[in-house]
Amino acid sequence: MAAPRVLVIPGDGIGPEIVEATMFILEKAMDLYGFDLEIRYAEAGDIAAREYGEPLPHETLELARNWADAVLKGPVGETARDVVVVLRRELGVYANIRPARSLPGVESVKPIDLVIVRENLEDVYAGIEFSVPGAAFAVKVVTEAGTRRIARVAARYASSRTGRVTIVHKANVLRVADGLFRDVARRVLEEEGISVDEMYVDAAAMEMVRNPARFDVVLTMNQYGDILSDLAAQVAGSLGLAPSANIGDEKALFEPVHGAAWDIAGKGVANPTAMILSAAMMLDYLGYHEAAHSVETAVEQALAAGLATPDLGGNLSTMEYAQAVARFLAAGK
Ligand code: ATP
Ligand code: MG
Repeated sequence: MAAPRVLVIPGDGIGPEIVEATMFILEKAMDLYGFDLEIRYAEAGDIAAREYGEPLPHETLELARNWADAVLKGPVGETARDVVVVLRRELGVYANIRPARSLPGVESVKPIDLVIVRENLEDVYAGIEFSVPGAAFAVKVVTEAGTRRIARVAARYASSRTGRVTIVHKANVLRVADGLFRDVARRVLEEEGISVDEMYVDAAAMEMVRNPARFDVVLTMNQYGDILSDLAAQVAGSLGLAPSANIGDEKALFEPVHGAAWDIAGKGVANPTAMILSAAMMLDYLGYHEAAHSVETAVEQALAAGLATPDLGGNLSTMEYAQAVARFLAAGK
């Protein structure tokens, strides 16, 4: 089988540093587990905008669309919207998967282990925004087809976990749009034999802080998922730990939930965990399940041993931490 093609976009701020640490782990995983990835690098983000006049250069978009099987993307700064919203649409990656779970050795607000399955292309992020004098409008787009396919993704995740999905919406106020999402999602999940409950998004936000253990798979609309996933990441301990996958029928894109963090860029102290765990999600997607699982385990072992970057109270540099993870990875094989 030909090696899967991975396009790596280092991005802005701490991006290049955490991507370097992540590629070090990926190389190690390839050595240990005997597989190959064909890797190419491309630019996007604030720096690309300054250099080429566009945050998502044509060549990068072409490589993502026509060459890559998967994209591994670092954080992007001010131009995030122009890069990631466009990439998501162009690649048709309709499912945004954001796990949030307590990790050993990391202080979490409450024990949490859930995955947010967020619809990634519709809702008010569909890009239909306009204004007339004195008023502005953003159109909330919800389709039956879009809802059905994201509900099927949630069903798949639920089957591999405890089997429960909570649909999060605001159908008491947005009766037509959120009502459609709720009804179609519920029907799909029930057809798939998944146990379903539902919650209004305001109540879900409260409950995610009060009793996060009650959630397993959270299926929600684009904007609610955007907000709830930052909340869940922080409940789990830190934005610096939260990975994500954007998955479509043909393409996938993996990226940390956090941003460019310019305040600590270039200092070699950024926490690469979210980026490394995003790469693990990519390995899983590409079919290297054992390697993916082992990378996750190695991260847990490093953190459990108190090996961490300064944001978690440790004293390791980004690369020292990656080396520690790599040692656990080698020891676990
Ligand atoms: P953006 O404008 O792209 O959102 P940001 O600078 O606001 O970037 P966030 O990801 O929102 O970055 O993070 C907020 C703060 O949390 C950062 O300023 C940084 O101090 C800290 N932080 C985020 N990610 C990490 C990380 N991976 N390692 C260490 N600290 C981080
Ligand atoms: Mg930010």
